[in-house]
Amino acid sequence: MTWSQTYPEHLLHLLHAHQQEHRYISDAAILEIAERLQLPRAQVEAVVEFYAFFSRTPRGKFDLRFSTCSSCGDARLMQQLCDLLHVSWHETRADGRVSISPTSCIGMCDHGASLLIHDRPLVALDAQRIEQIASFIETDTPLEQWPKTWFTVTSQNYRQDILLSSDVGSGDALRAMEAMGAEVALSAIREADLRGRGGAGFRTAMKWQFCREATGDAHYVICNADEGEPGTFKDRQLLTEHADALLEGMALCGRVIAAKQGLIYLRGEYRYLLPHLEARLAARRQSGLLGEAILGVDGFDFEISIVVGAGAYICGEESALIESLEQKCGHPRIRPPFPVTHGYLGQPTVVNNVETLIAAAYIVQHGAQSFLDRGTASSSGTKLLSISGDCARSGIYEYPFGVTLAEVLEACGARDVQAVQVGGPSGVLLAADAFQRTIAFDDVATGGSLMIFDTSRDLLQVIQSFAHFFAHESCGFCTPCRVGTVLLQKGMDKICGGHGTAHDMAELSSMVTLVSERSHCGLGMTAANPIRDGMAHFPLLFNQRLSHQEMEPDFDLDGSLAEARKITGRDDAEAHL
Ligand code: SF4
Repeated sequence: MTWSQTYPEHLLHLLHAHQQEHRYISDAAILEIAERLQLPRAQVEAVVEFYAFFSRTPRGKFDLRFSTCSSCGDARLMQQLCDLLHVSWHETRADGRVSISPTSCIGMCDHGASLLIHDRPLVALDAQRIEQIASFIETDTPLEQWPKTWFTVTSQNYRQDILLSSDVGSGDALRAMEAMGAEVALSAIREADLRGRGGAGFRTAMKWQFCREATGDAHYVICNADEGEPGTFKDRQLLTEHADALLEGMALCGRVIAAKQGLIYLRGEYRYLLPHLEARLAARRQSGLLGEAILGVDGFDFEISIVVGAGAYICGEESALIESLEQKCGHPRIRPPFPVTHGYLGQPTVVNNVETLIAAAYIVQHGAQSFLDRGTASSSGTKLLSISGDCARSGIYEYPFGVTLAEVLEACGARDVQAVQVGGPSGVLLAADAFQRTIAFDDVATGGSLMIFDTSRDLLQVIQSFAHFFAHESCGFCTPCRVGTVLLQKGMDKICGGHGTAHDMAELSSMVTLVSERSHCGLGMTAANPIRDGMAHFPLLFNQRLSHQEMEPDFDLDGSLAEARKITGRDDAEAHL
């Protein structure tokens, strides 16, 4: 059974198919799709505008999206390609041959500079490869004839522990659950004190229990596979090499909360993994581990479908993700109510990320004690870390909670480290005096991203790029975030451009507070973190970049009135400021 059979019509998939075939979404297509799905035309139009991977104007025959991430992006290479192909960012060349756009992190941080071309990651870019790409595009060479190695995504596991080395996925976790009963399986997860691996650390057993007890027409399990935090790529690895463990964790959760349907929300940047995941689903159906009467047990029915996102970072927020699954723009919901009682289609829903669901399956198969043997009192088990940036060995590391940052930096071969961004731009920026702190829920909590910056890096430029990231990814729903992130970006642009003053620092500081305290969801609440931490831990870097202590206007007010003076025919002294 394929996706189209299990989940035949989803707005994002229809739009994606249309975008691929016609290179843009026309008015006629919007009308046709709206009628086909019986959705309001305005809803379809809004969705097209909301997601970065859809376009209302034709994209090029070769459609490239360059990562702007600090780890898997390189603005100079993007500019080199633009120059070679005589095209500007965001524009489609007049002959329709090529479009090049910047995009947020594409999850290839362990592969160096990377881009997406027609949904396929093309990795390990350098100046020479850029020249070859330009040549292939100019000669209209089909992608199938480009070197296959350019599209090869591998992962390096530099440290394995219970999850990466486990045998979960063969059905044994489900068999163990059937033998002990769903209630006892839930108790094991409670006893192991499994906490959500996304960073917030909500207790998984509690979430499942709330959902199990909630009343509704149906219950749902959602896997959040939308890791969009720059610097994160561990889910890519798990989905590639441990997909069966995830699918088993979802089925197990389904049995515990009495759900018959699971959904994987896969980030658009990982669309290339869809055939592999569908193949795993098909194999499990064939083996009686998915579908009706799983393991031959009457009433144990559970099906999983995959919905692929379309380039919206905010959809990693669970309520925005649910909105997206419901074929809407990914605007975060007002909470409460929480998804455990009012989630997908208003029904009780568990949303867990990939790592959490795999850990749940591990616990049921191997017992709570095996999990408790690792970690600390507040943080049991292990944590997968995606390590990238200035180090000798970028890749995946699985450590028991409680490991210090210094130990991790030593293991990955980082030298002369100036700072580490833990948990992506929405996490914390730490200086060397914090490297003895530990990865744990009660110390440095993280979804798993560690971006390392050595002393050769211009840290202000890194913070500036994070400010751009949030301004770009704000969903625009609430004013403090929509406007505030742009003002933060402009403030950093001004300082990095050498025009900042003490006045700008004060303005930036108050904007940090406003955006953090007044935004509606986690994106806005954390958008100012890099600037906040940068000012706190690296004040000298900011101060050295200030031009003077006086106020310098953001723009030339008198100059901006020149057009008005021209129209009115005035150029006297009073017409000037
Ligand atoms: Fe959208 Fe930002 Fe408001 Fe969150 S805080 S709802 S991302 S505008």
